Amino acid sequence: MSNPNPRYDVEAVREDFPILKRQVCGKDLIYFDNAATTLKPKVVVDAVSEHLLMGASNVHRGVHQLSEDATQLFEGSREKMRKFINAGRCEEVIFTAGTTGSINLVAMSYGKSVLRPGDEIIASHMEHHSNIVPWQILCEQTGAVLKVMPMNSKGELILEEYEKLLSDRTKIVSIVYVSNALGTINPVKIITELAHKKGAVVMVDAAQAAAHIELDVQSLGCDFLALSSHKIFGPTGAGVLYGRYELLAKMPPLFGGGDMIESVTFEKTSYAKLPNLHEAGTPDIAGVIGLGAAVDYITGLGLKKIQAYEDNLLDNGTKCLEQVEGLNIIGTAENKASVLTFTLDGVHPHDIGSMLDMDGIAIRAGHHCAQPVMQYYGVPATARASLSIYNTKEEFDTLAVSLTKLREMFN
Ligand code: PMP
Repeated sequence: MSNPNPRYDVEAVREDFPILKRQVCGKDLIYFDNAATTLKPKVVVDAVSEHLLMGASNVHRGVHQLSEDATQLFEGSREKMRKFINAGRCEEVIFTAGTTGSINLVAMSYGKSVLRPGDEIIASHMEHHSNIVPWQILCEQTGAVLKVMPMNSKGELILEEYEKLLSDRTKIVSIVYVSNALGTINPVKIITELAHKKGAVVMVDAAQAAAHIELDVQSLGCDFLALSSHKIFGPTGAGVLYGRYELLAKMPPLFGGGDMIESVTFEKTSYAKLPNLHEAGTPDIAGVIGLGAAVDYITGLGLKKIQAYEDNLLDNGTKCLEQVEGLNIIGTAENKASVLTFTLDGVHPHDIGSMLDMDGIAIRAGHHCAQPVMQYYGVPATARASLSIYNTKEEFDTLAVSLTKLREMFN
């Protein structure tokens, strides 16, 4: 198979993912549903199973060897994640259930404690529901108002309109780094700088960004950032909230329980310090250990190399799909990663999904949890092929052949 980046060995990468040897409907699996969740390399599964089979203990509480081992692995993952996103201190890394959990934590803890009636939150038109609904709930509870940063028909945010929305009432700006429905990479650093001038804090939804572009929270200057383990080759059920130390330390805990206290009496309870303050209860220990292994895996490949390989693949994939008659690509921003969303004249996206499945090709069909994006383009649903580190140009060729075949069949 062709490889535009000789230092990036896609065949070796593919060997790390046993599932790629699987057949679906008698055909070699082609997995293009990476924006929903990525496949898992064997090293991640081994790390999880090693912990469950031979480690198993709870963290932070035991005095025995197994608990100390588990704690070391768990806290080791925190340090790996700190480096991965270039946070200043590991106390700024809070383990959560995922991006959804992280955004809800910020909304219900930070948001609820600072917002007053009439205050404003800004999110963009291309947000995932996870970055819309928590803010709507918060608005219902506080009397704050949610404003929408608009986008143009290419799927790019209109920054001039954003600047007009910003005011002294703006308290939170929450923005997706890479859109799961369009692939647009948003200018998060600029958005953050503009928000900070008005004294607002910025939350970045990096669920889709984390597997494709280097994250640097210090360079972005953001106040919060959320990501999910399962979208960066780790297990489901775990994720991260990065927050600036000063903000996290002041935020009231959303959950009370074990591990987040210093001392408890019926008269007065005092809380633990960061990061435990926001990690009540037994965490997803195996998931976090798997996430640590996933971070090692990505770091081993190198995100710069990954990005160069994927940029080329996305370019090739776009050209390849553009050749398919009747295919319309939705989301044509200059700056894109991973995602190719499209419709095919005369074929419903769900039919595209089911028919491709018969050729062993997994794509996504639906609204991608971004219904406002569908409303903007006036479609109920779209098909989406999202690529990752193990996809190849040849797989896009196969996808294009299958799409051409099914369009002819339906027309
Ligand atoms: N934001 C974006 C941009 C996403 O793509 C997703 C997952 N599709 C989420 C948030 C929610 O992530 P999770 O379901 O892992 O919490």
